[in-house]
Amino acid sequence: MRLNVAEPSLRGNEIDYVNQCLAEGWISSNGRFIVEFEEKFAQFAGTKYAVSTNNGTTALHLALIALGLKPGDEVIVPTLTYIATANAVVYCGATPVLVDADPDTMNIAIDQIESKITDRTVGIIPVHLYGHPAEMVEISKIAKKHNLWVVEDAAEAHAAEHYGRKVGSLGNCGVFSFFGNKIITTGEGGMITTNSESLMTRLKFLRSQGMSLEKRYWFPEVGYNYRMTNVQAAIGLAQLEQIDDFLARRIEISKLYNQLFSDFTAYVQTPFVKTGNKHVYWMYTINLKGKHAIFRDKLMNILDEKGIETRPVFYPMHQMPPYFDDKNKYDVADNLSGSGINLPTHVNLSDADIHYVVEAVKLGIETLQVNNSGEN
Ligand SMILES: *Cc1c(COP(=O)(O)O)cnc(C)c1O
Repeated sequence: MRLNVAEPSLRGNEIDYVNQCLAEGWISSNGRFIVEFEEKFAQFAGTKYAVSTNNGTTALHLALIALGLKPGDEVIVPTLTYIATANAVVYCGATPVLVDADPDTMNIAIDQIESKITDRTVGIIPVHLYGHPAEMVEISKIAKKHNLWVVEDAAEAHAAEHYGRKVGSLGNCGVFSFFGNKIITTGEGGMITTNSESLMTRLKFLRSQGMSLEKRYWFPEVGYNYRMTNVQAAIGLAQLEQIDDFLARRIEISKLYNQLFSDFTAYVQTPFVKTGNKHVYWMYTINLKGKHAIFRDKLMNILDEKGIETRPVFYPMHQMPPYFDDKNKYDVADNLSGSGINLPTHVNLSDADIHYVVEAVKLGIETLQVNNSGEN
């Protein structure tokens, strides 16, 4: 038996819809599934429009270009995120300015944003890390005060809610990913949600090589080919039909994890949910508390030997070569990253699987404790 950290579940209308694409001959980036997937996704996210792309990174890039991001500009980005968030800023020739993490939610530390704003700052990209919404109400206030745009990186948080509103509808636009390990998938794929008609028009123009909407094969600007295919959209539509069930199961799994770890909280910090938020648990994450953090990598090895795949919490951007920064302190992100483990979180897991994982974590920690005290 092997338990993966993430796995897609493709037991809805995926095969049927993909077969329709093949039978009808619409396998490229035109077709009815694209139209329907974008419409349904906008409805789902609670926005007027949704624009699909070929992956989440291009969705981010496209959103930033459409908002006018240019060389010399600065964008506020959490240091604790997946690298695509920062990379998309660099693709525009702009500079990501890193902010430390909140110790509870792991999201961008809102009390440290304003000190990083300069004359060059044009926007903020909050990330809803592992499915917990960032503090959008506070972030929107800061953005308004300093005249900044906000792009939500919601790649890990489909259907998460902040004070009753879905993520992706809380900034100038929201960006989603449909990579194979995300909450719903199209294989590779992305989406930008927005209420702005002008932004939507600009996104569609840039997505399709910058071709004039009035004159075919006339290109007034340098654009991109970032289009999703009808086959991807067919899978996406079938996935979207099942998202309520997926979310319900993710929440059940996280509750079971919480319950089973409840007698082990001296060692393990379970996910925190801040008031007003609906967490969708893209990755159920535990942090080893205090001095126990030194066992993190060894524990992951033990779990691996038992057929349990885990992942370390993301390395913060400031630790890696492209964004290396040892002049500023990011202590919270360093701690969370060094002590955190993503456990298997996907809808194909049974309750017995979760029991197996938790038992293995507990036994692993106990063994490491004993061995460690023996050496001393
Ligand atoms: C997955 C992810 C992306 C990028 O999505 P891809 O579809 O893999 O390009 C961007 N940001 C975050 C936070 C992600 O987790």
